[in-house]
Amino acid sequence: MKKALQKFFAFLKNAPLLALVFGCLTAYMPQANAAQITSMRIGQQVGSVRIVLESDKAFDYQAFLLNNPNRLVVDAYNVDIQTTLQADPTNLVSKTRIGVLQGSDKRIVFDLKKPALIKKAFVLAPQSNMKWRFVIDVALCSQADFMANIGTKHAFSNTKKAPTTTAQANKWVPQEVAKPKKPRQKIIVLDPGHGGKDPGAIGAYGKTYEKNITLAMGKELKAILEKKGYTVYLTRSTDIFIPLRQRVKIAQKHKADLFMSIHADSAVNRNAKGLSVYTLSETASDKEAAALAERENKVDIIGGVDFSENSREINDILISLSQTDSRNKSSKFASYIVSEMSKSVKLINDTHRFAGFAVLKAPDIPSALLEMGYLSNRNEESLLKQKSYRAKLATSVSQAIDKYFNDPEIAALY
Ligand SMILES: [Zn+2]
Repeated sequence: MKKALQKFFAFLKNAPLLALVFGCLTAYMPQANAAQITSMRIGQQVGSVRIVLESDKAFDYQAFLLNNPNRLVVDAYNVDIQTTLQADPTNLVSKTRIGVLQGSDKRIVFDLKKPALIKKAFVLAPQSNMKWRFVIDVALCSQADFMANIGTKHAFSNTKKAPTTTAQANKWVPQEVAKPKKPRQKIIVLDPGHGGKDPGAIGAYGKTYEKNITLAMGKELKAILEKKGYTVYLTRSTDIFIPLRQRVKIAQKHKADLFMSIHADSAVNRNAKGLSVYTLSETASDKEAAALAERENKVDIIGGVDFSENSREINDILISLSQTDSRNKSSKFASYIVSEMSKSVKLINDTHRFAGFAVLKAPDIPSALLEMGYLSNRNEESLLKQKSYRAKLATSVSQAIDKYFNDPEIAALY
């Protein structure tokens, strides 16, 4: 009896340790009563993007937004997560991370490529053969609206367990998020049009080759931009032929923040003159723009390679949200070029135009095509041959690039 009592007291003495060991074990073991999340997916709704988590039972959650980088956070209480996110067809989410808040409470972080607001969050009871579904609808918004809605103050939640302050909620921060973001040098890819066996337009009076003017301008502009601190790559720095698709790939390989293709125009009407900037559109803004796009795109046929097979894939990408987004950025860039150029050179009417240039079809990279002037016009052909005139153009372009990256909406993305 005495021995038994001694054993009992010995057990009590160790009880806190046992409780600790047991507590630690349970924290890392799947909880028997935890909801099992077995699927995560993202889909497009009209005007919004829907994230759906499927589970075998309901769970408590709190969903909110955090910035730097922009992200959507879903804290899910007492769950096991047995899945990863399938590819995001909407291109809203760049990355997901799953971490442990404590025990079986988990945090799912969706890094957002674009600012978005939570519109709705709710739990749906199983219908027919389906599982429980946790649904969250988000819609794109401006960065200003995003910033006005960050933190747990604006959380969508069905639980009192959730931390009530952003500071509390922020305690658990995945490492990638905790790293301060270093401002990085902006990368610009300049694309001197044509080259090699493809001379481009040929001057009507002095027989100037477009390919030589575009290469000279590309090199000169590169030097100016590098002085300003940009990282600049040329798609070609010698007189070689590069297919259009290859030019786009070069920009993607360098992870360009901006892509600009450089050309010089020509027209049957020898009085036609002036500079214009084009950005991508499914449909050209007018007949001339369409004809020009056709001329510039023909280069691929000269190369003897059929790139038409690529076009469906590219078109599919174009339809995605990210393309719409980079198209808006491209338009913004073009408008800065127009406003800077208008200070120093003659522009043609309706200077910023839209056309379906193959070379501008780089998903995710804001792109524009500059037609510096008409080689079919006597005066402009002689101007474009002059280094001092190209320097004027290059300076204006570099100022437009500065303004573009300093634009509050663009700067917020870095
Ligand atoms: Zn051209």
